Amino acid sequence: MAKAVMVQSTALGRSAGQLVIGNWKLHGSLIDNQRLFDALLCSPVLTRMAVLPAVCVPFPFLAQCQKKLQGSRLVYGAQDVSAEKSGAFTGEVAASMIAEFGAHYVIVGHSERRMYHGESDAKVLAKTLRVLDVGMTPIVCVGETLAERDCGDTGLVVSCQLNAVLDMLSPEQAARIVVAYEPVWAIGTGYAATSAQAQEVHAHLRGLLRAKGEAVAQVRVLYGGSMRSDNAAELFAMEDVDGGLIGGAALKSEDFLAICEAGLLF
Ligand code: PEP
Repeated sequence: MAKAVMVQSTALGRSAGQLVIGNWKLHGSLIDNQRLFDALLCSPVLTRMAVLPAVCVPFPFLAQCQKKLQGSRLVYGAQDVSAEKSGAFTGEVAASMIAEFGAHYVIVGHSERRMYHGESDAKVLAKTLRVLDVGMTPIVCVGETLAERDCGDTGLVVSCQLNAVLDMLSPEQAARIVVAYEPVWAIGTGYAATSAQAQEVHAHLRGLLRAKGEAVAQVRVLYGGSMRSDNAAELFAMEDVDGGLIGGAALKSEDFLAICEAGLLF
């Protein structure tokens, strides 16, 4: 079901605007980031309150974000976090360290972490708790593979992934997360879910959230997977789509801004 077009709203919660978050993955350099930030920060699109833009960058660039973006409407975050608080865990980065750089978001449970690093639902839960503990917002990613979709298991898969987190959080904690539905078959492939496919899964996820209470029902559910300027508006128009998690298209200012602009309509 398509939602009514909203010109602008200052209300809190889902109605406050589309959350458009770039996931830079393993991309960027100080000089390239500088150019990208300059282009984004001087755009009138990002001054509009009806879109809430953010970027999730590799850890070494958090200092640059802090210097360049703090106080701007472009908020920032990380793409992963340690499940541990501190200690002898070589190579890990703790949530408290990320928070020290003024980060707002941390992506947890991205399918590339689940796939290439064997991250279990239990690990995703542990990371979510670490992020919440230090006052940041976890973006909890869920999504099915093509084989799972073809077997008709999409609902089951995303329910297991989301409930593994939701069931262990208090309602107050659960109300502070963001969920990203990212079908694995759509990530980086150029084949986004149709708006109807996305809405079906988002409505299912909304039902799981609603079961945890009214405050949790207001949690934003983002769509991710080959979102581009030419399909963003159609996806944002869906009742239960509250924004996007953007990979490839977040690396070019004109593409990211075009997606943000599409978000202004809803
Ligand atoms: C992602 O990896 O989170 C993603 C959505 O990637 P892409 O937009 O490139 O499909």
